[in-house]
Amino acid sequence: MKEEPGTAGEELHPRRPKEECGIFAVYGHEDAAKLTYFGLYALQHRGQESAGIVTSDGKQVLEHKAMGLVPEIFNEAVLDSLKGHIALGHVRYSTTGSSLLINAQPFKIRYSGTSLAIAHNGNLVNASRIRSELEDRGSIFQTSMDTEVVLHLTAKYLKRGLEEAMSETMARIKGAYSMVVMTEDAIIAARDPNGFRPLCLGKLNSSYVVASETCALDLVEAEYIRQVKPGEILIINQNGIRSMPPRTSLRKSQCVFELIYFARPDSNVFDQNVYLFRKKQRKLLARKFPREVDLVMPFPDSGNYAAIGYAQESGIPLEMGVIRNHYVGRTFIQPSQSMRDFGVKVKLNPVKELLRDRKVLIIEDSIIRGTTARSRIKTLRKVGARKVHMLVSCPPHRFPCHYGIDFSSRGELIAAQKSVDEIGDFIGLDSLGYLDVDNLVKPSDNTREERFLACFDGKDTVRIDDRFTKQ
Ligand code: SF4
Repeated sequence: MKEEPGTAGEELHPRRPKEECGIFAVYGHEDAAKLTYFGLYALQHRGQESAGIVTSDGKQVLEHKAMGLVPEIFNEAVLDSLKGHIALGHVRYSTTGSSLLINAQPFKIRYSGTSLAIAHNGNLVNASRIRSELEDRGSIFQTSMDTEVVLHLTAKYLKRGLEEAMSETMARIKGAYSMVVMTEDAIIAARDPNGFRPLCLGKLNSSYVVASETCALDLVEAEYIRQVKPGEILIINQNGIRSMPPRTSLRKSQCVFELIYFARPDSNVFDQNVYLFRKKQRKLLARKFPREVDLVMPFPDSGNYAAIGYAQESGIPLEMGVIRNHYVGRTFIQPSQSMRDFGVKVKLNPVKELLRDRKVLIIEDSIIRGTTARSRIKTLRKVGARKVHMLVSCPPHRFPCHYGIDFSSRGELIAAQKSVDEIGDFIGLDSLGYLDVDNLVKPSDNTREERFLACFDGKDTVRIDDRFTKQ
């Protein structure tokens, strides 16, 4: 098959699938902004393009947000200026074209004498339709984000009281959302009725904490209480915590890709430990695809956990066949076309003496476009690996995701265009194997009905708005 060159930039900063956001909120702590800063640090993997924190002391709402990573945006002086016992934070990854400060979250507005701020993780599939309706009635939008629709709807229903406004808003919006709304004196956490994205509740002495993942609770030493239930609204204020049960009961659709790929391995999402879920999957791979190879290896860091279960189950030695340079920043100067191989090696350099003339098995967590894997395999061939096999611990991604992950068209997905053997040829492998959907569901303690697998099986549970385009 004819080689199609990728770009040097892609090799340096591979187009791995991206989650769109992480949320962290605190109620009732004198260091609310600092706790939120640390919480966002723990959630940085969920979004690296912008971050923000909004605080309230019961009267005044303050904010700071900017483009960049959490440690680049906040310092001691900024955090000291964010006064208050309530804080809401957000880290964001955006899709192409909307990586702008104006779209950074939390969004804050003032309406009818009340300050409202929102942080949202997910993607609404009927936002365009609602936005058009609101614009027809005179609403003026400031951003291109679906999240702003939630704020406009909440403001529209606000005269019925905040709780009712949230409930009415949730009855209108469709798709994936875990979100937290903050007012001067309360935080309100909510999760869509399908429960696509995780959101958990914790307690730190007398304070409450809400976070996308439990690793953020661990960092601030908050005790995990439970998940926010699908469709539930939690109101946290000076009276304590109160739950409004779901208005509707829908089929649970918890994104299985959170467990496969997005969430941190030290987190529990959907009441399941991510590390143990992944380890079990790799054991299934070992049973399904025994391979006669000299060593099993990951592409660090995402592949590290991928290889452990296979090696343990098969008894084949686990080796670190490529070494990652942890200091390659986002501002690395792109090599020219004639230096393209530098692009791969500056980040991942193969251990030549380990790989030369060896039969190698790579365990991957996913293949989306295939171009990054192909560049990497080329470097292994160059140092003399005799055979290179690859196993992937999820099924082929054949369908786009409309619920907050950045592969929104089939054209981006190599498995939507090619068979498994053709993908193997494209990447330059001796063999390629994937887990199938049944394997994916088996390691779970939950029933198959609770898992959402649309990017693998094409079965959407929410009707997609025909005017929906990813923003
Ligand atoms: S389509 Fe895939 S990535 Fe998107 S929410 Fe469903 S399982 Fe997750």
